[in-house]
Amino acid sequence: MRRAVVLLAVLCVCDGLKFGQLCSGNSDNSRRISDRWGQGHYGARRVNREHKGLDIVCNDGSIVYAPFDATLHGNVIVYTDTSKAAINNGINLRANGLCFKLFYVQPDRTSGSVRKGERLGIMLPMQSVYPGITSHVHVQMCDRSDPTKYF
Ligand code: ZN
Repeated sequence: MRRAVVLLAVLCVCDGLKFGQLCSGNSDNSRRISDRWGQGHYGARRVNREHKGLDIVCNDGSIVYAPFDATLHGNVIVYTDTSKAAINNGINLRANGLCFKLFYVQPDRTSGSVRKGERLGIMLPMQSVYPGITSHVHVQMCDRSDPTKYF
């Protein structure tokens, strides 16, 4: 009985991961709703696929913060299309057994550990590739499941 209680407590810590502020100027992690390029929620329709992440508003050039204590696991190549080179970067983060990708961020570094609120890097110039879009960090789980519950 005692063992069961301890196990439950551990599970609750894992489930409790919540994103802190991701981007300077967006203290409540406001989401991209809708613009001429599409919608920002998980599962939104794209031309020939589904949007597999959640978009958090972040103006070009803003500071991007670690949303939780995490370890860094290399950068992310988002596109093979060279016309999008200006925003083709990101960072892999792991915490609490979960694996996340943040797209469109120029990371300061790509290994080691970070504390919640520590600077991760800079939001890339999304307007130069998608004029008129709501500039945003794209948050994607490594297994492409829905990250919304962590906000
Ligand atoms: Zn997205």
